[in-house]
Amino acid sequence: MTTTDVVQLLYLAASALFILGLQSMGKADTARRGVRFAEVGMLLAVVGTLLHHEIISYHWIAISIVIGSAIGTAMGLFIPMVKMPERIALSHAFGGLAVALVGVSEYVRHGAHAPMLTIAAIGLEVFLGALTFTGSLMAFGKLQGVITGKPLTYPGQNASNLLALAVALAGVAYVVANPSAATVFYVVLGLGFVLGVLLVLPIGGADMPVVICLLNAYAGLAAAATGFALGNNVLIICGALDGGSGIILGLMMSKAMNRSFRNVVFGAVGSAPAAAAAAAGPGAAPTSSANVGSLEDAAAVLASARSVIIVPGYGMAVSQAQHVVRDLANALAAGGAEVRYAIHPVAGRMPGHMNVLLAEANVPYEQLFDLDAINDDFGSTDVAIVVGANDVVNPAAKTQPNSPIFGMPVLAVDQARTAICFKRSFNPGFAGIENELFTKPSTMMVLGDAKKSLAELVQAVKSEAKLAA
Ligand code: NAP
Repeated sequence: MTTTDVVQLLYLAASALFILGLQSMGKADTARRGVRFAEVGMLLAVVGTLLHHEIISYHWIAISIVIGSAIGTAMGLFIPMVKMPERIALSHAFGGLAVALVGVSEYVRHGAHAPMLTIAAIGLEVFLGALTFTGSLMAFGKLQGVITGKPLTYPGQNASNLLALAVALAGVAYVVANPSAATVFYVVLGLGFVLGVLLVLPIGGADMPVVICLLNAYAGLAAAATGFALGNNVLIICGALDGGSGIILGLMMSKAMNRSFRNVVFGAVGSAPAAAAAAAGPGAAPTSSANVGSLEDAAAVLASARSVIIVPGYGMAVSQAQHVVRDLANALAAGGAEVRYAIHPVAGRMPGHMNVLLAEANVPYEQLFDLDAINDDFGSTDVAIVVGANDVVNPAAKTQPNSPIFGMPVLAVDQARTAICFKRSFNPGFAGIENELFTKPSTMMVLGDAKKSLAELVQAVKSEAKLAA
């Protein structure tokens, strides 16, 4: 067996593992296994690439592996979970830049003599890679607050963006016909960099996670183009998987957030939730009409509860309250209550955010229920405990047509006999709007940091149980 055969076999095994990995990640109980499959697949792909006959010196590769591993390990260890969208945006930026640089290097090495199909692939690769690089940096800047999260629009924006896109594609076609036209090739690269900025400018910070999914798809398509340019099968398969899954995830998130995918893609066409929120009215609810309770009050209500649904939200992630949430669930279950968790598809700040945190706290998967599976049960539930969730439990999504979240499916916490909401204040959530759930007579607000409040509540629940025994 030749080295080329070994490389192709490794690539085949890697591709199969990526597909198995993606499939396993679709279910909570097999997700960890899916990540392992993908990790092994990536290792095989890297080993296969290192065996490539064209590599004549490992010197720079070794240095790059050390630097890349150091940065990747530090990012994995030190970037908190709540900053995951920003981290993903940065990863995409680096991926896009790498793809663009590989394309430039291929053009410099073989450009003038490469077959037409290869030149076309290189042209698309550098364009999409450059666009992903600056687009992802813009998304990172907006999420991080370095650049304003407000949509930046100007007259003729969509028309000028479409013109730039048409010029870039015409440039690729020109280079395919005249492979030695290096200037045109670099104009295509430059247009990619500029369009990345221009396409993300008109999109509000609220839509950034959907944009990141889209940039993920662009990066995947760019990687697939690289695969065609280099004749590398694993890159073609991996890029296609990345591109396809990015688009599917973007579509799913738009649906769950009740945002039009077309508006997100073409920016400027629609308004971001923040802008709509301003039109919808003030954010903070009047505290005077709310029923603010103490931890003792909450413990007393829970003492007689037979059915409890816990609704985690972004505040649980901020406060890192997942472990104490599990302790509370255990204490209530020990007292005879049936405890379940209701997981909204966009609770938190990234898909699966709540599932990841609760899995980290060893909450059994069987206790987690998706919105569709549990929403009808709130009406027959004694207590709904809301831990740092706001938009995903806001009844305005069902009742107020002018609300920016109108139409978004929300958890029917307002239907429970009693709702106990843990948050620090009456401040609004991500969408920046008032939540009438917090002023309903059947709602008790317990103000304070979720982790601190729940830790004390667990003790209070245990004391109540001892008194009752
Ligand atoms: P949310 O609407 O952002 O509300 C979170 C609440 O947590 C806030 O009202 C805040 O109130 C509270 N909070 C913050 N820190 C806290 C702490 N230490 N202790 C207790 N409470 C704390 O969150 P959500 O209900 O999970 O909804 C998610 C929102 O993000 C949706 O609008 C969704 O569309 C959007 N989004 C989701 C994703 C995704 O993929 N999951 C991506 C992008 C956008 P206080 O400040 O008063 O404490």
